[in-house]
Amino acid sequence: MTSGDADRTDLKGMTLPELEAFLARGGKERYRARQLFRWIYQKHAVDFAAMTDLSKELRGILAGSCRVSGFPAERVETSADGTEKYLFRLEDGEAVESVLIPDEARRTLCISSQVGCPLLCGFCATGAAGFRRNMTSAEIVQQACFAEKRLAGRGERLSNVVFMGMGEPLLNVPDVSRTIGILLSQFGFGISGKRVTVSTAGIVPEMPALAQAYPVSFAVSINAARDDLRSRLMPINRKYPLKEVVAAMRRIPLQTGRKVTAEYVLMAGVNDSIEDALALSRLFRGARIKVNLIPYNTHEASPYRAPEADTVDRFRNVLIAGGIQTITRERRGADIRAACGQLRTAAGGSGGVAAGGGAQ
Ligand code: SAH
Repeated sequence: MTSGDADRTDLKGMTLPELEAFLARGGKERYRARQLFRWIYQKHAVDFAAMTDLSKELRGILAGSCRVSGFPAERVETSADGTEKYLFRLEDGEAVESVLIPDEARRTLCISSQVGCPLLCGFCATGAAGFRRNMTSAEIVQQACFAEKRLAGRGERLSNVVFMGMGEPLLNVPDVSRTIGILLSQFGFGISGKRVTVSTAGIVPEMPALAQAYPVSFAVSINAARDDLRSRLMPINRKYPLKEVVAAMRRIPLQTGRKVTAEYVLMAGVNDSIEDALALSRLFRGARIKVNLIPYNTHEASPYRAPEADTVDRFRNVLIAGGIQTITRERRGADIRAACGQLRTAAGGSGGVAAGGGAQ
């Protein structure tokens, strides 16, 4: 990287229409944007000289005033179950994490959209470290670029992307939307909208516009069926209470046979009773909502723990008896602190992720 990088226009992170407009402003043909998109997102090129189907003149102009940003993972950890956690150091020194979760058919990447998180949900390790800043679309999409390139080395491809890493995607809508545009574009990653899931703690006013703009899947972190409990666990509930969150979920346009996912982190003695399950099933009655139960993944300084397996089963059975499709999310990558709610920014140093010490 040269010292002039900051002055160059970063082509990574622009959507295809943005890149077309950028080229058009410079008097270039719009279709060049598709070629550039393929080089950047399908062939992982960072050097304009390699983009041999562009004219020499255009390559020269781009090399003079633009760049394609990109950074490798500073650290890769591999779980006994094959899950991989990537630590990315951003250009300003901040750090984020992503998790690649392989199963038989799928290669799912869980990506971050903010450095830290401002929502301060009491049970989540990401919130405990505080909020630093929004990520740019170049930074968000780079997590997918890195994973896709790594998978290509094994003859594999990314099949699913979930915005369930660090941060609240609906508090960073412009850059999350750009990233979705790139993931869905046939000249970009070409991933179908139903394989891209945006998870939100329930930022109600942002839900309809994103749902209208892109046919992505939605997941909403519910975690409690009563406002008093939900407000205690997730302070954002004071701003957007359950009733409004569920109403927004009901309004998301869905293709035939599809449902919105409600994520419910089960914490022993907190939200795992039969009454809680009954209240949840009343809340979702008649809605196209399926429930994803997530037994709590513990982390240092957390007072919460997962319920016993039969409590989880009992909770699930109550929902199923209420006619609600329910699955229990399998815990992945817990040995490398890659499981839900275990990602954090205090990732410096060479030891464990929690190298910050103290309350970390
Ligand atoms: N801010 C968005 C995106 C993060 S998704 C959202 O809240 O949906 C992260 C998911 O992990 C959320 O559903 C959250 O409730 C869950 N989670 C957080 N901490 C957890 C923990 N310790 N164990 C299990 N799930 C956790």
